[in-house]
Amino acid sequence: MTLADVEVLTPASADEAIAAFGDGAGMTVIGGGTIVMPDLTAGRVRPTRALLLAQAGLDGVTRDGGTVTIGAAAPLSALEDGDEPLATAARHCADPEIRGQATVGGNVCSVASPDAPRGDLQAPLIALGASVRSVGAGGERTQPIEDFLADSAGRLVLEISYDEAKRKTGYSASTRPHTHHYTILAVAAAERDDELRVAATGLGPYAVKIDPENPLAGVEPPDDAVASGWYRTQVLPKLVERALADLS
Ligand SMILES: Cc1cc2nc3c(=O)[nH]c(=O)nc-3n(C[C@H](O)[C@H](O)[C@H](O)COP(=O)(O)OP(=O)(O)OC[C@H]3O[C@@H](n4cnc5c(N)ncnc54)[C@H](O)[C@@H]3O)c2cc1C
Repeated sequence: MTLADVEVLTPASADEAIAAFGDGAGMTVIGGGTIVMPDLTAGRVRPTRALLLAQAGLDGVTRDGGTVTIGAAAPLSALEDGDEPLATAARHCADPEIRGQATVGGNVCSVASPDAPRGDLQAPLIALGASVRSVGAGGERTQPIEDFLADSAGRLVLEISYDEAKRKTGYSASTRPHTHHYTILAVAAAERDDELRVAATGLGPYAVKIDPENPLAGVEPPDDAVASGWYRTQVLPKLVERALADLS
């Protein structure tokens, strides 16, 4: 089977996207395609059907009744001037060209590659207490993002939302001095009504909530092409300290 045999579906609305996705069998979703297009052309992903979200009307960012809702196909660039710590994480991703093309849904659904962590928006979204609305086998679900990340296979993300409430936020990242270098490790924090939520990207396949008092509990930082697990173990407590000091 070659790329030419893949059935490409281009829904023009969210309802059409949901109907086309069905139970997700044999389907690859294409958001901005910055990860999945190279995978498709290199044959690392071989779907029978591909769902292009670009025209599905899922690219809005709205504020209504105290809730911020981000469509799965919204570009990362749409978040750059928005709420922290999401905005700082979005500005840290790649370069302006990638941020204009890559989507929030694609970032939430991306997992670390053998080369580098991905999904820099996941930790800030955990810190904000965000929920993910998705469809797939078993129907529609809205669940905390940390639950979605732990079991995201076979789902089509429609939108991500969080409470607009006032909170203190902080962010700290270990990056490389080049726009195309991925974040090595990043910590996002948000404090609201005495509830402190802290999460990290770069400790595994997807971001996880961590205990700021004991950030290394339950994590086994990976070795990849940008850093060793040992290095991440040394740096994590310092990033937590900095993210908490940054709370404002
Ligand atoms: C040069 C370069 C630099 C980069 N730097 C960074 C960086 O600093 N930080 C970072 O986090 N990432 C980085 N990336 C990776 C990538 O660009 C981002 O993670 C981006 O947000 C992925 O979004 P996308 O829409 O392009 O995803 P896609 O490539 O479209 O999809 C990624 C995965 O998510 C799935 N998917 C997409 N949308 C949905 C949906 N709505 N529902 C279900 N599944 C879906 C796809 O099937 C695929 O498995 C970089 C990439 C490049 C090429």
